[in-house]
Amino acid sequence: MAITSKYEPVIGLEVHAEMMTNSKMFCSCRVVDSVTAPPNTAVCPVCLGMPGMLPVINKRAVEFAMRVALALNCTIQPDNVFARKNYFYPDLPKGYQISQYELPLATNGWLDIALESGERRRIRIRRVHLEEDTGKLTHLEDGSGSLVDFNRSGVPLLEIVSEPDMRSVEEARVYAMKLRQILRYLGVNSGDMEKGVIRFEANVSLRPAGSQALGTRTEVKNLNSFRALAEAAAYELERQAAILDASGQVVQDTMGWSESRRETFSQRGKEEAHDYRYFPEPDLPPLQIAPAWIEAIRAALPELPDARVARYTSALGLTPYEARVLAEERPVAEWFEAAVTVGGAPKAVANWLINALFSLMNEHRLSIDQVKLTPAGLVELIGLVDKGAINTNTAKEVLAEMFASGRPAGEIVQARGLAQISDEAALAAVVAGVLAQNSQQVANYLAGKETLRGWFVGQVMKATGGKANPALVNQLLHEQLTRLEGEQ
Ligand code: ADP
Ligand code: MG
Ligand code: ZN
Repeated sequence: MAITSKYEPVIGLEVHAEMMTNSKMFCSCRVVDSVTAPPNTAVCPVCLGMPGMLPVINKRAVEFAMRVALALNCTIQPDNVFARKNYFYPDLPKGYQISQYELPLATNGWLDIALESGERRRIRIRRVHLEEDTGKLTHLEDGSGSLVDFNRSGVPLLEIVSEPDMRSVEEARVYAMKLRQILRYLGVNSGDMEKGVIRFEANVSLRPAGSQALGTRTEVKNLNSFRALAEAAAYELERQAAILDASGQVVQDTMGWSESRRETFSQRGKEEAHDYRYFPEPDLPPLQIAPAWIEAIRAALPELPDARVARYTSALGLTPYEARVLAEERPVAEWFEAAVTVGGAPKAVANWLINALFSLMNEHRLSIDQVKLTPAGLVELIGLVDKGAINTNTAKEVLAEMFASGRPAGEIVQARGLAQISDEAALAAVVAGVLAQNSQQVANYLAGKETLRGWFVGQVMKATGGKANPALVNQLLHEQLTRLEGEQ
């Protein structure tokens, strides 16, 4: 690939994220599921753009936007003005979108990302502003027409614009994924990519390696998945490199992405801000945000993933891998912390979660908040293992049953007679029985085939239904085999 040596990729992302409020941005219509709700059932004269209707700002949407702005280290502007962005499209009944232009909600933030190589990069955020989503068009496959659903029109939409700080497709993908993770952590967006609640626009250019000036960019619109984002950006970089290699010039343009052909295509010449005839929205007063409001939102922010990972490694002794896995999603992190709060040793809880509970969740396609096992239940189970009441293998069986039924560990152990056999005399008899019944293996062992030791352990476990205390079995085997060796 010619790109990496001769040219440096430059990528800036515009991310549109719907805010998960109950009602829409400027009216009291409910925000409904764009896939399952019957079309045009959550609409009213305001979001249908009837003349003479007055919009009202949704306070909760502003608060959600403030959460995001603060989590991205932005400065929230005290004076916000909504603006009309005028353009015609069949999914936009008003003929304009209420957005923010000169005075956005927040500016000058950053998001730190970590690359596969371990390298960390800081991506600056240029601005975060609030607007409203459009309706949804469905173009009929037989070409006979298009359908429009206005349920989505007027849903609060946050636009997060980065500086052109990304230098590879990987950085763009990691940035986008991290942003989604934070939106989910903040409880402002479901992250449900298939439902289009987060959409990306990739601005892509190349410049000669070592140059500081920005090259001419193209902008790929409407990317609905991380895969589409990465593929479209990679495709544009290749396309631009080929143009530059042939001493041509990249034309600034707005592109679409064809999922079926996996290539970009030109949509139109690049529109400029003045094409939209922005002007302050006359139906809305300026939105003033007092410092006290900002501080209240800041104080209520959840601890974010990076901070959690740092705390899990430094204060709780987890490995960076364990910390990342547990901090990945907020409900999992909170479950883990609840277990630690009721007395679970962090390392043991992490182990059981990552190595046992996650596979059960995967197998049954359940998320942590659908699981019947409680944090306290897991801690009880770990306690039974620590006390020697059950061995680790039995504990895994018990966990599976707790997962299925929600019954407490102690009850399952009792009801199923799973308690570990730690009675030395009883176990010694079992060990002696196993050795007596397998004289050939004993002879082989005594002749030097030491690997048979594990096999003997297995036989004892089998004879006790897996309930024998493994440490005791090993000790007794050692004693009895040593004695037999002496008798030889
Ligand atoms: P518009 O709103 O018209 O798309 P902006 O100037 O607001 O234009 O830029 C939008 C995005 O494009 C930002 O994320 C910015 O970082 C990115 N960007 C601007 N210039 C370049 C460039 N030369 N190469 C790559 N990205 C760019
Ligand atoms: Mg743009
Ligand atoms: Zn409405």
